[in-house]
Amino acid sequence: MLFLGKKMEEHGMDVSMVDSPEVASSIWKDDFYSSSVIPHVPALSNSGRRVCGNIQCTGSWSAPWRNRKRPVFETQWGCSGRCVLELVRAALRRESGEKAVDEDVSQHQHRMPLGLLLLSQGWITHSQLQNALRIQRGQGGRIGEILIAECGVNADYVARGLSLQWNRPVLGAHGFSPRSMALVMPKVFVEQFGMLPLRVAGSRILYVGFEDRPDASVLFGLERMSELRVESGLVKTEEYHAALRSLLEDKVVETREEFCGEVDALAVRITAVLEQKQPVASRLVRMRQFYWLRLWLETRSLRGFGNLPQSSEDMMDYVFRMS
Ligand SMILES: [Zn+2]
Repeated sequence: MLFLGKKMEEHGMDVSMVDSPEVASSIWKDDFYSSSVIPHVPALSNSGRRVCGNIQCTGSWSAPWRNRKRPVFETQWGCSGRCVLELVRAALRRESGEKAVDEDVSQHQHRMPLGLLLLSQGWITHSQLQNALRIQRGQGGRIGEILIAECGVNADYVARGLSLQWNRPVLGAHGFSPRSMALVMPKVFVEQFGMLPLRVAGSRILYVGFEDRPDASVLFGLERMSELRVESGLVKTEEYHAALRSLLEDKVVETREEFCGEVDALAVRITAVLEQKQPVASRLVRMRQFYWLRLWLETRSLRGFGNLPQSSEDMMDYVFRMS
């Protein structure tokens, strides 16, 4: 939103105009794609040798046979399995303590129900709302969808209503490339959280769309994993589902999904993965009930916008679901 607001000001526009594709493409016409190599290289000592990232490490020279370039976990290299375990434990402490940004706020925050909001804007009539609520009581479902499908309400109004309700812009799916967006994150997050990566603008901002409910907590996780600024908005139902379908059909980073009972066992498991796969870079973030470990297996996989992979080659994702 911040970025969008700024861009809008530069162009002297109102944020509500962003849902027009012509306006949106003119806003982003100056943004260009460029490739960059991200330094993920752990520190070297004065003598030029790689330093163990575990601050409690005592035996950094005791394993001369160990590869000094890998495994790298979050820009740190561990001189032994024990030291890697300490690095992983510290990351897990950080992630489990990470107060998901909206967990406290939005679950308790009052939002005007969508139906009332649409009514207050004059975008639907009393009888359309009553009709939709009656249908919802009978068969369930989401009020926005019912209004569109059963009550003849224009999908644009529902999208604008959601945009007001969540204070987020309406985003179009123009410029959407399923091939590159499918690599942004494991499919399980697209499915679980309804988050749809839309495009990278100016090689530093990742736009993510939701159908009806932006999730600030997982956006925060994605922001830290991608090292891009993540901006979110609402996407019109039809457009959303069309883009979602093509994204889910495209090739993704190879993903292993595992269940894990508790954090100590998870630390051991992640360490085993790092020791086995020997990544040149890796990162761990929590996405609500999941821990997402992304591995860059070779140096050439470290090219992209922020941390986004350019191909599925030499990349690997692990998704640990906490039960
Ligand atoms: Zn060490």
